[in-house]
Amino acid sequence: MLNVENLKVAVGGKEILKGVNISVGDGEFHVIMGPNGSGKSTLALTIVGHPRYEVRNGRILFNGEDITDLPPDERAKRGIMLAFQHPEEVEGVRIMEFLQQVLAEVKGIDLAEAYDMIVETAKGLWFKEEDLMRYVNVGFSGGERKRFEILQALLLEPKLLILDEPDSGVDVDSLSVISRKIDELHEKGTAILLITHYGRILQHLDPSKFRVHVMKDGRIVLERGGEFVKEIEEKGFQKIFEECGCDE
Ligand code: ADP
Ligand code: MG
Ligand code: MG
Repeated sequence: MLNVENLKVAVGGKEILKGVNISVGDGEFHVIMGPNGSGKSTLALTIVGHPRYEVRNGRILFNGEDITDLPPDERAKRGIMLAFQHPEEVEGVRIMEFLQQVLAEVKGIDLAEAYDMIVETAKGLWFKEEDLMRYVNVGFSGGERKRFEILQALLLEPKLLILDEPDSGVDVDSLSVISRKIDELHEKGTAILLITHYGRILQHLDPSKFRVHVMKDGRIVLERGGEFVKEIEEKGFQKIFEECGCDE
């Protein structure tokens, strides 16, 4: 479904991704791990078409179509969604209005029907109806921001959901509900590309369900089965890189 081929990407004139290859098949679950600054967020934002990222080489295919130069909303219409590492505050836009508008645009659902869907789905993520009248992310805690990203995903049911550190800055209770909901989406057929540098969020998942890709300095240097997450946690990236000769 998603094929990233020899992708080189620059930000502010500096090359950050130096030839990334990764494929995600229909309904598959892939994990990207890697030290801070290795280019994980750059890859995620490039796949959804963030204008700051300049593709210098390679291409991104989605269901066989070259989407490398498509605007972000066209990628969203094709079923690609990114849950952001740092979701931004949108002053003046209420959650309910925002989600109703998104559901109307992407899925053609009318406002009244959307309202009920949103309230019902939000309950499962501990948002009360009154919470939905708040402005998007304004004054939200880390856990609330990440749960709101998951709420959008549950409502949209994208074909491919990219999650950029959904586990960073969240309390343990939020972590477990987020983890369960990701699994739920996957079970319903959404392909997952999950970026993390901890294994915690994968604890309840059967390691045979997913594959792990490890990034270093703008490249994916290792691909392994799900059990590899434990090994990374025990050894740390530095040791892993020494052992695979990835430092050369
Ligand atoms: P990760 O998500 O793996 O922590 P990022 O993709 O955020 O890594 O960043 C990769 C590298 O790109 C880092 O060295 C970072 O400093 C650099 N970078 C990211 N965004 C910008 C930017 N807007 N301008 C310049 N450098 C950037
Ligand atoms: Mg980082
Ligand atoms: Mg990042």
